[in-house]
Amino acid sequence: MEWEKNVRKVVPYTPGEQPADRNVIKLNTNENPYPPAPGVAAELALLDAGQMRLYPAFPEQTQLAEALAEYYGITREQLFIGVGSDDVLALAFMTFFQSERPIFFPDITYSFYDVWADLYRIPYEKKALDEQFRIRSEDYEQPNGGVIFPNPNAPTGVLMNLEQVKDIVAANRDVVVIVDEAYIDFGGVSCLPLIRKYDNLLVVQTFSKSRSLAGMRIGYAMGHPKLIGYLNDVKYSVNSYTMNYAALRIGAEAVRDVDYFHECCDRIIQTRERAKKELGGLGFTFPESYGNFIFASHERLSAEEIFRQLKANDIYVRYWKKERINNHLRITIGTDEQMEALYRVLRQICG
Ligand SMILES: *Cc1c(COP(=O)(O)O)cnc(C)c1O
Repeated sequence: MEWEKNVRKVVPYTPGEQPADRNVIKLNTNENPYPPAPGVAAELALLDAGQMRLYPAFPEQTQLAEALAEYYGITREQLFIGVGSDDVLALAFMTFFQSERPIFFPDITYSFYDVWADLYRIPYEKKALDEQFRIRSEDYEQPNGGVIFPNPNAPTGVLMNLEQVKDIVAANRDVVVIVDEAYIDFGGVSCLPLIRKYDNLLVVQTFSKSRSLAGMRIGYAMGHPKLIGYLNDVKYSVNSYTMNYAALRIGAEAVRDVDYFHECCDRIIQTRERAKKELGGLGFTFPESYGNFIFASHERLSAEEIFRQLKANDIYVRYWKKERINNHLRITIGTDEQMEALYRVLRQICG
């Protein structure tokens, strides 16, 4: 068709499969197996449908921002909130990666980065992880148009220490460095304190994993007020009312219940550490993971075969038929019961 020559053509990101059958054991999209904080359900019951006639504004907007600012010990001017961190990251790509030089990110990483780069026509260069799937920080010290990486990295779970993150930020003062901390609450140390010293650092986090609210779509970025200002200018040039009333009210409740949050993260960490032992015993190897998932490959069986057999048993994990990682499975940490069911089936497959 004639009009097709004027279409912006993109290859979209493919998320993990969302099976229609809710009874399967779903360990393929790194969702949290536990419900959100009890205050979330209570707040949901209090929502006033009459309010939904209005555009979301004060006081809801301020409640979520204030709860986050208080929790992280930052000011409202250092905080940006968006519709999941995918929204925040997409806006950040659009805002900060305007150089002619390529942006840098790891060759094995969140597979949305090259999608956004292609969408916005941003040149990029992938930097190979080493044999142990570690980011080599020296690779990021050449001239570039910006840097982005998750810490811990996805889908490997490998955590970079704070010193190394700082080296990358310090070596790139003339561009913006985005650290995607989607999984930082499962045992990593956030680089957030560095935003006071480095005005080129943007730290992005999400409610989707550690706060059990993937369905609500809440993400946020923290950085120097000037960075946040530029991000807001772009956001308000696309859609000035992205967060909805319900998400704003519920999100604030999820942040306020600090004890529940820590308890939930601790449970997942404990289950993960047990999973390392179990999977190790079944012949799997994996890099040390600091996420709510393990990136494992088997000594004998192909990942694709295990993936197929698990699926036949109604257990969904994530598999990519991609260079360098096509013999690995990313297994999300579920509840202890879900994990026991996984080990039972794996014993049959691998035994
Ligand atoms: C899950 C994930 C995100 C996006 O999460 P949202 O649900 O959009 O907040 C961003 N980065 C990484 C590395 C992720 O794994």
